Amino acid sequence: MPETCGLCGQAPIAPGELEIAGLRLCAECHAGRLKGRLAPRGLVLRERRWIEDRGEHQRTVYVIELCGGVPFRLELQAELCGEGLAHKLAKVFKREVQTGDPDFDPAVYIDTRTREDVAAALGSPGLRAAVLELLSEDVRLLLDGNTACVTVAGTLSNRAPRAGALQRDLALVLHHLAARAAELGLPPRPVSLAGYPGSTHSAKPEHDWG
Ligand SMILES: [Zn+2]
Repeated sequence: MPETCGLCGQAPIAPGELEIAGLRLCAECHAGRLKGRLAPRGLVLRERRWIEDRGEHQRTVYVIELCGGVPFRLELQAELCGEGLAHKLAKVFKREVQTGDPDFDPAVYIDTRTREDVAAALGSPGLRAAVLELLSEDVRLLLDGNTACVTVAGTLSNRAPRAGALQRDLALVLHHLAARAAELGLPPRPVSLAGYPGSTHSAKPEHDWG
């Protein structure tokens, strides 16, 4: 039996493919081309893109929003970001959860109202590695119940250079969140993305990988 992709389980590992967050991936997952690849594992990942005018200068920006969910009764409320972004944002970030991981703790700022649940989830080395990968893209990760979302915005001239990596890395976070939830024996819960940030926006999903 050839080894199959650690994320989608469907395709053979591409020769020479690098391991990311503890998983060896097929070429499609590695590139973030995930259509139809996550649903068999109960994971949902949805992308929406739109263009909007912002601020006093009527600057036109693109927005990419990626939201996903895992089919377990997770009760997480947290916002995570890396050091670079924490310094850029006016908001004062704290480090409310310490995991004991010397690579993770100094690099990740965590604001949370569910400290024990977040600490329990981050007991997974794979999840910590996936979060580090995702936050290296300079995004904020919002955890809400059993959903995880990132939003990126930028000017039209540098439109979406990193979308593939974001999709892959958020999928890795979802994979490890689900694995951790199963390990902790959490009961199942269907994924609903109805209340996720930006859901009031009229833009239709461009891709729905559920
Ligand atoms: Zn794959």
